[in-house]
Amino acid sequence: MNRSLLTEASPDHAVDVAIVKEVLDVGDLPLWRHPDWVTRFPWLAQGTTGRGTDTEPFDLGSFGDVPAGTLMNRWHRLLRGTGQQTAVHSRQVHGVEVAEWVEPIPPGLLYVSGYDAHLTNRLGVLLSVSIADCVPVFLVAEQSRALALAHAGWRGAAGSIVEKVIGGLSRMSGEAPETFWLHCGPAICGVCYEVGPEVHAGVHPFREVPSAPKPIDLRAAIASRAIAAGLLSERISVSGLCTLCGPSDFFSHRGGSAGRQMGVLGRLA
Ligand SMILES: [Zn+2]
Repeated sequence: MNRSLLTEASPDHAVDVAIVKEVLDVGDLPLWRHPDWVTRFPWLAQGTTGRGTDTEPFDLGSFGDVPAGTLMNRWHRLLRGTGQQTAVHSRQVHGVEVAEWVEPIPPGLLYVSGYDAHLTNRLGVLLSVSIADCVPVFLVAEQSRALALAHAGWRGAAGSIVEKVIGGLSRMSGEAPETFWLHCGPAICGVCYEVGPEVHAGVHPFREVPSAPKPIDLRAAIASRAIAAGLLSERISVSGLCTLCGPSDFFSHRGGSAGRQMGVLGRLA
């Protein structure tokens, strides 16, 4: 793992966190996993799905042209491949509502609406967020094994969804944020994501706002917000993979793709 400096507008705003590149799972799923978390948390099911192959595509978008039966088969493959019983998923709204999964849930796929983040302390519950340039934010409370997963685009980040999830995980786990591990998965990178002044103002409210469109590194911003919320930089990592400029294993909304990958997180034991 390389420790690198993510530089943004100026060195003053640099965040010293690890940059990691997910590796493709050895199983038959197109699942890209955090290479260090695989060994650090053997009890964890974690990763981001990819496009799959031409002969075996793995688009998990609910609002594209994938037939419902094909979509359900892919969800069941994902459950089997990750050793989980129930996948929970929400139609996302770029909001900051957090669903908490603490009661038993029947096996299968539970589809709800209006949440952009999930928390659970249960075994066998696969949290999922739909992604195609936005950031899947994975959080692990190591002692209690409580988990959180958020979908953070610029609106979610500006609305403090990451801070909200950190607070929720702290309540659920009884652990302090400095014990949490956080990873920002494959997403659009800080070179590709050119956005207007309103995005900069929302994501970085205390910085000078550029007068013209300028790239922003959403994952660096999320890491910086997590550190401000009490996490330790040495427990934070960000993916070095960009959904737009490469590799080509992921769907990119800005790249014109209607497909969606899933960030997934669950407990095996
Ligand atoms: Zn890029």
